[in-house]
Amino acid sequence: MRRTLIAGNWKMNCTRAEAAQLAQGVVSGVADASVDIVMCPPFTALETVSSIVSGTNVSLGAQDIFWESSGAYTGEISPEMLVDAGCSYAIVGHSERRQYMGETDDMVNRKARAALAAGLKVMMCVGETLEEREAIKMDEIVKREVVNGLAQIDAGQLEKLSIAYEPIWAIGTGKTATPQQANEAHEFIRGIVENLYGGEIAETFVIQYGGSVKPDNTADLMAQPHVDGALVGGASLKPDSFVQIVEAAQAGV
Ligand code: 13P
Repeated sequence: MRRTLIAGNWKMNCTRAEAAQLAQGVVSGVADASVDIVMCPPFTALETVSSIVSGTNVSLGAQDIFWESSGAYTGEISPEMLVDAGCSYAIVGHSERRQYMGETDDMVNRKARAALAAGLKVMMCVGETLEEREAIKMDEIVKREVVNGLAQIDAGQLEKLSIAYEPIWAIGTGKTATPQQANEAHEFIRGIVENLYGGEIAETFVIQYGGSVKPDNTADLMAQPHVDGALVGGASLKPDSFVQIVEAAQAGV
């Protein structure tokens, strides 16, 4: 049986006051849910949100991380600092970081390994652009990102790592992958995990879908056998819509 993981990636949104209001709304709305729930505010709001989620069923996550523990890395935030700020999760390899900040598969892998070593859980994002999908390169791109991203990560650490399949053409565009497209990509990713780590681990491995997840498409996506959760962008910025997404996911458990 795989856990269901619903995470909100707030991206570069929310002052501390806005973050507090959003977090409070979510925490009170999901109090009865038993699925795993994570909110990933910007770094400046981590402490604010940490105090609100403390002692609740909602976990705190960071949107990015650096691989060194401390030192002369201006602007970066270490895994230890994130643990200190109350985080238990970190997103690595989001397509916006790959696209705008030039993150490579190797950097994503270093970030994932450093996060795991510090005791954080990792949500590793992979996904293809529209051009790549149209050129029928989805398999090639996703396989490269998954294999390189998981390099040197042991089987024993995989229960603390999920992959978020986020087709870039579906992010913030209102174009969701159809549930069948999502399921197909997730099945493909699970097959890669099986090749790398064996069937037993692949069977329990959590794969989230991200890309225009909304309250009204969550149930259909989550009903797919290989879709185990969601990484929600825009719809995680309103307490009501994020709570409804959690409720839809919870109903399918
Ligand atoms: P949207 O839900 O806004 O499409 O964003 C998805 C995403 O990038 C989550 O990490």
